[in-house]
Amino acid sequence: MKPVYSVIIPAYNEEEGIAEAYRRLTCVMRDMGEPYELIFVNDGSRDGTAAIIAECCAKDASVRLVNFTRNFGHMQAISAGMEYARGAAVFVIDADLQDPPEVLPLMAAKWKEGYHVVYGQRLQRKGETWFKKATSKLFYRVLRRMTTVDLPLDTGEFRLIDRKVCDAVNRLPEKNRYVRGLVSWVGFKQTAVEYVRQERFAGQTKYSLRKMFAFATDAIISFSYKPLKLATALGFFISLLSFAYMIFIFYQRLFTDQTIDGWASTVVIILFSQGIVLVVLGMMGEYIGRIYEEIKGRPLYVVQEVVEQEKSS
Ligand code: UDP
Ligand code: MG
Repeated sequence: MKPVYSVIIPAYNEEEGIAEAYRRLTCVMRDMGEPYELIFVNDGSRDGTAAIIAECCAKDASVRLVNFTRNFGHMQAISAGMEYARGAAVFVIDADLQDPPEVLPLMAAKWKEGYHVVYGQRLQRKGETWFKKATSKLFYRVLRRMTTVDLPLDTGEFRLIDRKVCDAVNRLPEKNRYVRGLVSWVGFKQTAVEYVRQERFAGQTKYSLRKMFAFATDAIISFSYKPLKLATALGFFISLLSFAYMIFIFYQRLFTDQTIDGWASTVVIILFSQGIVLVVLGMMGEYIGRIYEEIKGRPLYVVQEVVEQEKSS
């Protein structure tokens, strides 16, 4: 039987909390009283996560497990879930219970009202460091200013999307997947449900500082050309400054008898402009690297196996 709801749960080394996530999600989904499936995407966990989910699969036909061959990343895991989902409405929720499953029925209610995308908007975030909160606030605001797509603020991957939206996003060929951005990009009728982000049920964040940085660069670069324009603007600015300085030097040489003891200033100017050139080159490199990723055309992820009771039709 085709489920009405699919729930995608990406999980990476979540053995301490995954059983509880299964229990709470199952409670909520059963209460909603319609056929559903829970799709756990195990993103190459090195702990017992896969084994725990496989146990749930064995005793519960609504659970499916997609095992990756290695850690491909959160966005890839969600993309895989979206490929495997069969429901008429598809939820995405983290495995750590930071997004409360009890919000899902509220999202479903909005969906029944006719919205195609219902995203969770964080009113407040509990149990996260001030550093994470501050950087992410800044990130959402900078990103919003840099792109022409209307990206909602303070919104993660916690959302409901309609089948039509899911299919539209699945059809996008790009490898660089900032999923929430793609969902905004495809349009449709979107609305928000506000919620308070909870503390992690167990374990530590799986987003290291390095992963967070890579994530932010990916998001900005796949949704904005502004950094390239900034490079041009910087170039102009520097040329203008040096032109003004050149006129000043001519003036000094011709009309004053000050000796030009400009060693320090010359070095400063050279270092400064070299620095800018390197930054700009790096920026170009980021784009070129991504173009390279795209043209290689490698798949987003590799699936080792799918564990489920009845084979999908
Ligand atoms: N996750 C993943 N692959 C990764 C990193 C994270 O599938 O490489 C999952 C993780 O298991 C969790 C979700 O993505 O379900 C969000 O990660 P996390 O809670 O660590 O991020 P935070 O909430 O701290 O931003
Ligand atoms: Mg989390």
